[in-house]
Amino acid sequence: MGPKVYSVSDHDIDPNLVDPDALNIVHTLRKAGFIAYIVGGSVRDLLVKKTPKDFDISTSALPEEIKDIFNRRCILIGRRFRLAHIRYGHKIFEVSTFRTGENEGSDLILQDNTWGTPEQDVLRRDFTVNGLFYDPETHSIIDYVGGWEDIHKKLLRTIGNPEIRFKQDPVRMIRLLKFRARFGFSIDQAAKKALIHHRSEILKSSPARILEEILRMLESGAAGPFFNLLSESGILELLYPALAEFLKTTDGNVIPYYLAGADKINQGLGKNPLERPVLAACLLFPIVQQEIKSQFLDRQKVPHLGEIIMATTSAIKKFEFGALPRFPRRISAIMIGLISNQYRLTPLTSKRQHHPRILRQRDFAEALKFLKIRALVDKNLIETYTNWNKLYKDHTRKHHKHHHHHPAPNHSQNENQSSVEHVS
Ligand code: ATP
Ligand code: MG
Repeated sequence: MGPKVYSVSDHDIDPNLVDPDALNIVHTLRKAGFIAYIVGGSVRDLLVKKTPKDFDISTSALPEEIKDIFNRRCILIGRRFRLAHIRYGHKIFEVSTFRTGENEGSDLILQDNTWGTPEQDVLRRDFTVNGLFYDPETHSIIDYVGGWEDIHKKLLRTIGNPEIRFKQDPVRMIRLLKFRARFGFSIDQAAKKALIHHRSEILKSSPARILEEILRMLESGAAGPFFNLLSESGILELLYPALAEFLKTTDGNVIPYYLAGADKINQGLGKNPLERPVLAACLLFPIVQQEIKSQFLDRQKVPHLGEIIMATTSAIKKFEFGALPRFPRRISAIMIGLISNQYRLTPLTSKRQHHPRILRQRDFAEALKFLKIRALVDKNLIETYTNWNKLYKDHTRKHHKHHHHHPAPNHSQNENQSSVEHVS
């Protein structure tokens, strides 16, 4: 059976939201005699009127052929999944060759490099809403999987049997929750059942891939609903047992408020969300606070900075005990710094006054951004945040002037300005 084709009069996709360079890539591949379409998440986003983050392109050209056509703009990457990256300025487009998958077997997919037809290519994708092609030259949508109807019904359905598709690649279960959180779509009954049934298979997936989906969700502006779904589905308990346990306690139930604060800020930041260590701190800070309370405050002691750093590190250890994906050092190092600096921004006793020297610390901007999230959770901190933010702005402005007296070649003013803009 052929695909359903929806023409320009059937939909109201705003052609201005289609990146002209993506259009150019499709056009160039076609001129060279290949089939090419925009595919996946960006087509879904266009149909639900969200600005796509990035545009993926699927083509009949093989990786080497793509390389020949775009040569210096193009690098070939990936082993498990070979594809081309095409660069236009700061933007990178993923161009992948149509491939076919073993969609019936339940074995874990390890290799995914067998070339196929456009139809085979969408049949191996995860959800029907992610299985549409868009032809940017005729503005038509090509649908082999019923994704068009599901988008209009706001329904998440796997392509093929969910039991099999989740066993093949358990990360799809997390992706299901991610799309539910982001779009508010409902989950088809069969997929819901399969997720409950197969959730423990998640432990077979690559921790790096799981962590990447989780970090992307922290950045998404829908982190609150996402963690809620992870917890409800029992997947959080498998991935981060200590966190799942902590979330059920009175100290732990503040975490959703931090996530809501981060979501609020990220929704206003668009393509440049808060840094990952700042976002990860939403999960860790309440654990640190509980640790400091039980180790010190409940015993009428006030910890000094070294003890605070130790409590922070021990909270991370607790959080990661039994956890499948751990935070990489580049994230946890900054996170420890920004969390322990919270106790200098808001000292535990009024005797311990901060010293403006901390303004010069390398990761001060991150600490300040996290204080902003705290101020969204606790209104009493708004004034403190405003004061620190002003001090920091004055500080960076002075810094900026200083540079003006000694103009360095190639000095970029933007660097200083952007660090100020980010916090305001
Ligand atoms: P986002 O907006 O978060 O980028 P996305 O749907 O674009 O969402 P990507 O991870 O960028 O997600 O993947 C691009 C496309 O590749 C998806 O739309 C889907 O068609 C396909 N895909 C991604 N991950 C899987 C998977 N685990 N199994 C099958 N298909 C997948
Ligand atoms: Mg994408």
